[in-house]
Amino acid sequence: MKIGFIGLGRMGFPLASHLVKNGLEVTVFDLNPNQIEKFIELGGQKALSIQEIAKKSDVVITMLPGPKQSKEVILGDDGVLANLSSGKYLIELSTIDTETVDLLYQHAQEKNIKFADAPVGRLAAHADLGQSLFMLGAKETDLAELQELLLKMGTTVLHCGEPGAGTRMKLINNLMVLCYCQLNSEALVLAQGLGLDAQKTFDVLTGTTASNGQLKEKWPVKVLKGDLSPGFDIALGFKDLTLACQAAQSTGISLPVGNLVRNMFQLARHAGKDGQDTSSMTDFWAEANNIEKIRL
Ligand code: NAD
Repeated sequence: MKIGFIGLGRMGFPLASHLVKNGLEVTVFDLNPNQIEKFIELGGQKALSIQEIAKKSDVVITMLPGPKQSKEVILGDDGVLANLSSGKYLIELSTIDTETVDLLYQHAQEKNIKFADAPVGRLAAHADLGQSLFMLGAKETDLAELQELLLKMGTTVLHCGEPGAGTRMKLINNLMVLCYCQLNSEALVLAQGLGLDAQKTFDVLTGTTASNGQLKEKWPVKVLKGDLSPGFDIALGFKDLTLACQAAQSTGISLPVGNLVRNMFQLARHAGKDGQDTSSMTDFWAEANNIEKIRL
């Protein structure tokens, strides 16, 4: 099975590398030539264009920043669907909005391309270790083949429904993940302001039902250690909160906390936090409150 992988960023690179390690033939494309060169050293092959990658692959996988890039790469005049043959697979791993995923599915069906969306759960550190979870939206008839392939990049595949359901689930998942960024930040900054010891605060908050995966697994190895490199970039977190808020608006469902946290991320971006990990929201909140940064 020949795989074409487009988008070798913080997530795409490790995911694609697991395919190579598991013996698959993987051809890659990214706008950043450095990422492609690094990937070739692992045993992958490079394509010079999206057209080339689509023409030579049985399965094309995309892992791009968001809806705009996905539409360009997949639906563009010289994009994936214009060049992929009938009966092949397109798997969209990027976190995109519900309208875009439905549009991609519709165009894929028109060309008789098998389509699945499988956004990725868990941390970038899990992707590095091959421990990602996939929220799969796919037809029952495609499930067995898709599961076999996805399990070469991660440990868990949860079938969420028909194509498009994976994306919908991912927006819900990230709404919670990103709201915890704000909640954790408020709690930790208030504790510091009250003169509590950071380690003792962390031990209590991760030892009771106040705990959450973000605080427990991510904070101690990222912001509380002073490592602000993304992981999951604040700009991407803002994008996902925006997608969730748009989805809520289009269905007439209120999202008070989600909208509030989206605003906080927007302020963090204005304060120059793009390019930092989402856990850096805690530094942003400490700075905004004139509180010393919290470190363990
Ligand atoms: P990233 O910004 O590190 O990587 C994106 C990559 O896409 C870059 O290498 C960029 O050069 C490439 N790219 C952009 N436009 C392109 C184009 N037109 N053609 C080819 N390549 C192009 O982002 P990431 O952290 O790897 O995230 C990718 C996707 O995964 C996003 O949708 C994100 O929301 C989602 N996601 C991220 C995480 C995380 O923890 N980082 C976890 C789960 C899901």
